[in-house]
Amino acid sequence: MTEPTTETPAAPCPICGKPGQDRKYRPFCSARCADVDLHRWLGEVYRVETDDAEDADGE
Ligand SMILES: [Zn+2]
Repeated sequence: MTEPTTETPAAPCPICGKPGQDRKYRPFCSARCADVDLHRWLGEVYRVETDDAEDADGE
């Protein structure tokens, strides 16, 4: 459903799912969630690098 909205609804925090996010830490609700995402992202990149090489070799 697409309705004409004048205001942009704040998306929920991608980490904890809370609707209220801080402008300072967008799109996260707080510094804690932003930090959690950073660590998660770093870990994911490291995994993806090795996983991607393994996947490409397997195929
Ligand atoms: Zn959060």
